[in-house]
Amino acid sequence: MTTSTAVAVPFTVPSFTGAAREAAVRVLDSGWVTTGAECAAFEAELAAYLGQPYVVTVASCTQAIELSLRALRLDAGAPVLTPSLTFCGAVAAIVHAGYRPVLVDVDEDTLVPSPETVAAATRRAGRPAAMVVCPLGGYPVDHVALADAAGLPGGRIVVDAAHGPGGGVGRADDPATAPHATCLSFYATKNLPIGEGGAVATHDGELAAWLRSSRLHGMSRDAWRRYLPGGSWRYDVEELGFKANLTDLQAAIGRAQLVALPGWQRCRAELVARYDRALADLVRLPRRHPGHAWHLYQVRVPDRDAVAAALAESGIGTSVHFIPVHRLTAFARLLDPDDRAALPVTDRVADEVLSLPLYPALEHGSVDIVTGRLAELLA
Ligand SMILES: *Cc1c(COP(=O)(O)O)cnc(C)c1O
Repeated sequence: MTTSTAVAVPFTVPSFTGAAREAAVRVLDSGWVTTGAECAAFEAELAAYLGQPYVVTVASCTQAIELSLRALRLDAGAPVLTPSLTFCGAVAAIVHAGYRPVLVDVDEDTLVPSPETVAAATRRAGRPAAMVVCPLGGYPVDHVALADAAGLPGGRIVVDAAHGPGGGVGRADDPATAPHATCLSFYATKNLPIGEGGAVATHDGELAAWLRSSRLHGMSRDAWRRYLPGGSWRYDVEELGFKANLTDLQAAIGRAQLVALPGWQRCRAELVARYDRALADLVRLPRRHPGHAWHLYQVRVPDRDAVAAALAESGIGTSVHFIPVHRLTAFARLLDPDDRAALPVTDRVADEVLSLPLYPALEHGSVDIVTGRLAELLA
């Protein structure tokens, strides 16, 4: 073992702009801190950025997925396709919506489902009622090709774009093939960090209206509007809702962060190019595709756990995206045993994937430290 100097490259560091700090203070001093004008403005600005007609902010991407799935009003226990190689919360959302997750294997080169793996899952489990598509790491998944392979219209596709708001994923597309919903996350580690928060982007005005009411108990008029001059205390609840709203404090931070996002995306792309130059001949990299949102820099290494431990010893943080849900106790219990046996590629790559530090505040010199240490370990 080489004796490396004491370096510290954290796995993730969130960036917050000066404007985000000022926005937070502005809202705290404004007399209204929960869902209101800032959320409405953030939604309009996100809609323009994404090129989608409607955006509704919610408490988290997990809530965005669950509510979007509930809005489909499928039969209880309806089969919903999802990769196993995804975040556990995205699969729990399917269960909480009252449906049954059916796991799809991934493609060896892209680490996301392909039309072939979707077709295989459909042959195994029968025709699905809906599908959650996950652009893992920001890889721009072709949801139309996957929908075709599943025999589903675009309106039955929910895109879990927790990794994708800055790239091509979730951008304007043909309303005829548009997904039912594209779900965003503003969690602390994501490309547009607020700390917590989520949103649904959609072409479907009815879905947007339903989400606006459902995120706040199903009330016909939210508190902000009731308290406006001339507002009334009256409201009705036609359908039971949820407590899943974003606050104005979060939205104001998000608005300032959104201004910085394009620059941050360029930083991510530059860091990826630097990593690639150092690692292309050394480790197996997932396939590249234009429009990548570069949330994660994933490599595949043999003996991954030992490599991660050695990097940690050198002060280099890494992570794994993800532990496939079929390996998590609660999910293994509720999944079809056939599902768990039908994921050979997921099982293989899950032991090899390692995510290296990637965030706008990461120094180019830190990338060199990470790649240098990785080269030593793999030599
Ligand atoms: C982070 C993440 C989520 C959940 O986002 P929250 O906003 O924390 O609910 C969902 N799916 C994927 C793939 C994620 O990485």
